[in-house]
Amino acid sequence: MSSEFLTLSTSLRERTAAQVSDSRLRSNLARATDAFADRKAAAYAQFADPEEVRAKARAAKGEVLRRLDQILERLADRLEAVGAQVHWARTDEEARDHVRRIVQTHSAHRIVKSKSMLSEEIALNEALEEIGSEVTETDLGEWIIQLAREAPSHIIVPAIHKDRTQVRDTLQRVAEGDLSDVPGELAAFARRELRQRFLQADLGISGVNFAVAESGTLVLVTNEGNGRLATSVPPVHVALLGMERVVETWEQLDLLLALLPRAATGQPITTYVSAITGARRPKELDGPRELHVVVVDNGRSSILGTEFTEMLACIRCGACLNVCPVYRQTGGHGYGWVYPGPMGAVLTPLLVESKGAAEVPNASSLCGACWQACPVGIPLQDMLLALRRRASEEARLGERAAWGAWAAAWSRPWAYRASLRLASMAARMFNPSKVPGPPQRWALGREVPTPARHSFRDQWRKGSR
Ligand code: SF4
Repeated sequence: MSSEFLTLSTSLRERTAAQVSDSRLRSNLARATDAFADRKAAAYAQFADPEEVRAKARAAKGEVLRRLDQILERLADRLEAVGAQVHWARTDEEARDHVRRIVQTHSAHRIVKSKSMLSEEIALNEALEEIGSEVTETDLGEWIIQLAREAPSHIIVPAIHKDRTQVRDTLQRVAEGDLSDVPGELAAFARRELRQRFLQADLGISGVNFAVAESGTLVLVTNEGNGRLATSVPPVHVALLGMERVVETWEQLDLLLALLPRAATGQPITTYVSAITGARRPKELDGPRELHVVVVDNGRSSILGTEFTEMLACIRCGACLNVCPVYRQTGGHGYGWVYPGPMGAVLTPLLVESKGAAEVPNASSLCGACWQACPVGIPLQDMLLALRRRASEEARLGERAAWGAWAAAWSRPWAYRASLRLASMAARMFNPSKVPGPPQRWALGREVPTPARHSFRDQWRKGSR
């Protein structure tokens, strides 16, 4: 991903200004998100009682989060029992180290990847390219933004911000002849190109939508079949699993699998649902010889047990993005990190400690549309409010120190007089256009009253002489 597109070092206002004024981007976003919302409504209508399903899913995820440590241990035991190797990563650095080590052990130069937001979170592609590997994203949207050197703009549809002409122009960079902008022809071109990469790959990397602890099964849902190829054609498969993406039973999986595609793209089920239980066994004809599962914490355990615990129930469906009035105007890049929209506005400050991250919860109108859309009922707007409160309390530390100094000065007569004189001089010299940095915007809209040339005290003293 390009840091040009993802950075928390600029202000939210700066990051979103360009997107908001890009009418093409806004119309691309509106077209795609409206289509998802319409299809989602039709897919949810297939449930006898959608609210009941949502309540059950919320309860199931809540139960898993309450016993997450035990369920993860059970998952690890089952994974090892079916022949997978489990690696625990507390941080993004540890996760990258595990994958780099596996890649180097196998001298894996050509790597194919199926879509994984967790790999974006830990900046895995860059880490692998640094050691000389050639990484190819094989989800069509991910491949497009990889070629464009951009970051995903949506967690389900990474290239949602591009229309077909822009997609054609991006794919043209690797095409020999001229491409048309007919979607079917562009997809056929991508299929031909990527097929070769699958066949030549030394190692495949995937994310994991759900891991089932009772059987040690990794479940991937995709619409393009690339996930199945990336996890079964290369001789080694590395699966990246966010520690919260586990369920205990197939019954819980059944519930969440019914919700994820409906909420994400309005499909009753995705085209491919792959359930991977271990590596290739003797006498089996295909599948990887080795399966590695990297279980990533990277700040998640510090959310557990806080008022934000429920954020770990997120199944990454993207429904909250599609309905968010802010996301629909700005797209994903303005949020500054890998997770955009309401879910990103909550997750970013919880996983990244920085001033830029603390500002992201402001990218919300608090209308509650995200909560209504969320298939597991995460109270996103309450969390956004709590994060804003937290950020403003931290920002107020400086304010409190200033009031403290003022109170201390004004409790001593000599300091009181000196501060009045100083304030009077400063007010005379005040010029809003000369105020440096961001406070200038505040200063330009204000007038400071000109203090009297002689203070009341001076006049009193003079009159009483
Ligand atoms: S917060 Fe809810 S709606 Fe948003 S991505 Fe997560 S599960 Fe989907």
